[in-house]
Amino acid sequence: MIHDSGQRVLRATCHQRAIESGATEMPKVRVNESFCKGCKICVEFCPMNILKPGKDLTIRGFVSPIIVDEAKCTGCRICEFYCPDFAIYVVKEG
Ligand code: SF4
Ligand code: SF4
Repeated sequence: MIHDSGQRVLRATCHQRAIESGATEMPKVRVNESFCKGCKICVEFCPMNILKPGKDLTIRGFVSPIIVDEAKCTGCRICEFYCPDFAIYVVKEG
């Protein structure tokens, strides 16, 4: 796990901001498997724990994350900010 107290505070703060934003659109998480190298940083940092390692190999031979309960996604975009390969992103749909 990639955790320390400072990172936990950052995650909690971002999560609270997402809740307070009051956005009515439903966030949807998308993974571009062509870019993903399976590092699992997004899995470690998602404050809602809704990203998990997948089971299947991508065409590049990596294991991309899967979204296990998208309804719990707050749209905080922490996964997007931390992904070093621009492989995961959040879209909002009404
Ligand atoms: S935007 Fe990303 S980090 Fe935030 S809750 Fe949704 S999947 Fe998790
Ligand atoms: S952080 Fe980006 S590259 Fe790493 S597993 Fe997640 S989507 Fe893939």
